[in-house]
Amino acid sequence: MNDLGAWGYIRGLEAFPMTIKHIGIIGAGQMGNGIAHVFAQAGCAVLLQDITEAYAQKGLATIHKNLQRGLDKGKMTADEKAAILARVQLTTNLEALADCDIVIEAAPEKWEIKKQIFETLDRVCKPGTILASNTSSISITKLAAITKRPEAFIGMHFMNPVPVMQLIEVIRGLATNEATFEAVMALSKQLGKTPIHCNDFPGFVSNRVLLPMINEAIYALFEGVASVESIDGIMKLGMNHPMGPLTLADFIGLDTCLSILNVLHEGLGDPKYRPCPLLIKYVDAGWLGKKSGRGFYDYNKA
Ligand code: NAD
Repeated sequence: MNDLGAWGYIRGLEAFPMTIKHIGIIGAGQMGNGIAHVFAQAGCAVLLQDITEAYAQKGLATIHKNLQRGLDKGKMTADEKAAILARVQLTTNLEALADCDIVIEAAPEKWEIKKQIFETLDRVCKPGTILASNTSSISITKLAAITKRPEAFIGMHFMNPVPVMQLIEVIRGLATNEATFEAVMALSKQLGKTPIHCNDFPGFVSNRVLLPMINEAIYALFEGVASVESIDGIMKLGMNHPMGPLTLADFIGLDTCLSILNVLHEGLGDPKYRPCPLLIKYVDAGWLGKKSGRGFYDYNKA
């Protein structure tokens, strides 16, 4: 672990043309490690924070594994892989992110967790640090209001898996200023991604449209309309979706799906967003999908 202020020794930074070069990322889970991966690959210095060293190391191990896949396919050299990994530093200490140009939060989809994180970040980060959340659904305006810099707060919603997916949904809070918006749009393009702007309403565009479909698929299972495999097979082959909605839910994380549905349900007040009781039951059981080894499918099977 390295709670550095010592960005200086990280090689290759001078090649990164943006003014935003030092990136802080909160949460080294599925999304956080993917976000760290793409920034390090683009030449930025990344400081990846999680609550324990073991979680942070797990995130780094995933980056390592995903880069190795690129190496095996001949998409990068061993030297390039080593240079990318060397740009990722780990910490458990939020104060270590004080000098970052932007901090992107990818902690669990829980208001209380994000609130605590942004209170601390606002206190410790230098003036001018942009604060961004990768939240799937929580109000950017409300998160921004936790801080004394709502004009420098923005939603930067990456898609899973981050190294593969092209879109970044960029969400302006009510107070987000033009400079922050333009900087984040430019930064997203610098990563080789396509940023698309949308306004701040529960679930934004992506999850307002996606989650009702996933929820309905879970209701279809709950009501015995078809098996897991049949629901996924019908949607995959019939709608030409790359994966079925239950597989996708497992990939997103069932806890995250439930949190998003709760935000949609409470935020829009429409019973059509009511989470399926089967989803609640799975989350209660700790069946969170691929990340926990079991969801609608069993990932522990050989
Ligand atoms: P995850 O459960 O895989 O990872 C969350 C990480 O945050 C874990 O490593 C955990 O240890 C860490 N964490 C917990 N409390 C923390 C704290 N107080 N400070 C710092 N780190 C903490 O979750 P994920 O799927 O990576 O989702 C993270 C965020 O990204 C959520 O807001 C989610 O809604 C959003 N998101 C998820 C997806 C997806 O497909 N999973 C897609 C887009 C956005």
